[in-house]
Amino acid sequence: MRFGRSIMAIALSVGMGLCFSYANASETGHPHWTYEGEHGPEHWGKMSEEFKACGEGKQQSPIDISGAENLDLPDIEFNYKPTQLNILNNGHTVQVVYDKGSSIKVDGQDYQLVQFHFHTPSEHTIGGKSFGNEIHLVHKNDKGELAVVGVLIEKGNENPAFNEIWANLPQKADEKKEVKVTVNAESLLPATRSFYRYSGSLTTPPCSESVKWIVLKTPVPMSEAQINRIQAIMKHNNRPVQPLNERKVTVDTATH
Ligand SMILES: [Zn+2]
Repeated sequence: MRFGRSIMAIALSVGMGLCFSYANASETGHPHWTYEGEHGPEHWGKMSEEFKACGEGKQQSPIDISGAENLDLPDIEFNYKPTQLNILNNGHTVQVVYDKGSSIKVDGQDYQLVQFHFHTPSEHTIGGKSFGNEIHLVHKNDKGELAVVGVLIEKGNENPAFNEIWANLPQKADEKKEVKVTVNAESLLPATRSFYRYSGSLTTPPCSESVKWIVLKTPVPMSEAQINRIQAIMKHNNRPVQPLNERKVTVDTATH
């Protein structure tokens, strides 16, 4: 595919040239990216050198999960504790920043829960099926490596586990709220913790790879009104699914 590559290289240099003006750079100096239009997902990789993996990476997320290989994988251990509700709208998502002391154990290593946030509709799809929303619980180990747990949210009954968060959703970009209530990420997880695993990336720029992805198989319910409430703030904030390339998705066969 040499031809394809050289076209891509031209597109890349053109894209970077345009971006050089920084006409749309944010205050941080990072290019301003969005979910549609000229700074949408198909252009992220060309917007800056820092975002290159978004366009050129071969292990990108999200993906459509289908044809997963059965394996008897060890359980993921969840050790979540309550946190004070510290919630922010960063212009791309609504994010709950987590106090230190909560973690998961994956492949014998502890990863601390740093934050969780929401995407509407879901970023991962299962056999082509999209879900109403998806929570990403972002964890980091001592070496700075990431493990993200994806929880799919399906339209259904109203889910009271989200009440405190939903009552305090920051409406505008850069709005933050520190509320004197506690929430526990544990209560947002499904009772059954079987999962898919694959190696992927951040789903937002800079789309860095080597992220351990764990997508829980069982969706949790949320009412249409609850889904609509966050969608009214974020609109759609899901990156389209990316090619699987040489990767394999595994699914654990154990019942938890
Ligand atoms: Zn995310």
